[in-house]
Amino acid sequence: MRYIEPHGHMVSRTTDDYLDMVTAGCAAVCEPAFWAGFDRGSASGFRDYFGQLTEHEPRRAARYGLPHFCWLCINPKESEDTRLAEDVIALIPEFLGRPTVLGIGEIGLNKNSRNELRVLEMHVDLAARHDQLILVHTPHLEDKLKGTRLILDVLRADSRIRPERVLIDHVEEHTVRMVLDHGHWGGMTLYPISKCTPARAVDILDVYGSDRLWMNSACDWGESVPLAVPRTALEMRRRGWSAAAVDRVVYQNPVRFLSQCPKFRLPEEG
Ligand SMILES: [Zn+2]
Repeated sequence: MRYIEPHGHMVSRTTDDYLDMVTAGCAAVCEPAFWAGFDRGSASGFRDYFGQLTEHEPRRAARYGLPHFCWLCINPKESEDTRLAEDVIALIPEFLGRPTVLGIGEIGLNKNSRNELRVLEMHVDLAARHDQLILVHTPHLEDKLKGTRLILDVLRADSRIRPERVLIDHVEEHTVRMVLDHGHWGGMTLYPISKCTPARAVDILDVYGSDRLWMNSACDWGESVPLAVPRTALEMRRRGWSAAAVDRVVYQNPVRFLSQCPKFRLPEEG
């Protein structure tokens, strides 16, 4: 089996996880900028983090022969302080030219607040000005439907944004249709306790088909499983999906979306 982990917070994981992922067939990992589990106190904390994502972590992954890419932003959980957000967004352009940066993400909403919306609009503007792909985080549980609607409205309001260059992550049964109908890609996040279980993800694929959908583990510092994607691939096989159809979802789909950024190249492609 080969697969892409298109959304993994590897700075939170051990090198054993890298070893397990590569052993299971992982061909590339992409790491969106995320909350650290605590609020950073200044923009310089983000500068260090962006250095970690663009320099240190690719080196750590390379020890296992695994290409590592990343996305940059200030995440929604730290977007209440709009002054800090402005400072962080101002320093992102100096990192956008780095060879493994794929775009702006994971931006979005957490509590659907006014300040979060303002910071989301600032990120969308940043992505449009620099012609970047966008990766969007949608809120959890009861806030997800409303938050997804608000996010789709922000994206549609900016005429510079091409829907096929935006992936809306953490979709579930009640949000996947609207995301696809807006022309975006959708990501299903496979979590053991919240978000989507492997069985639910395969149900969604059975209902909505596999076009413009990917799966990820999001493996972060919380309860999460770095091998969730290959395990869900096994669940797909168990339920009758062919090896070729599984490959399309866990490998070819992420490659298709991510290749819209010319920097996303896998070794065998030269
Ligand atoms: Zn994430």
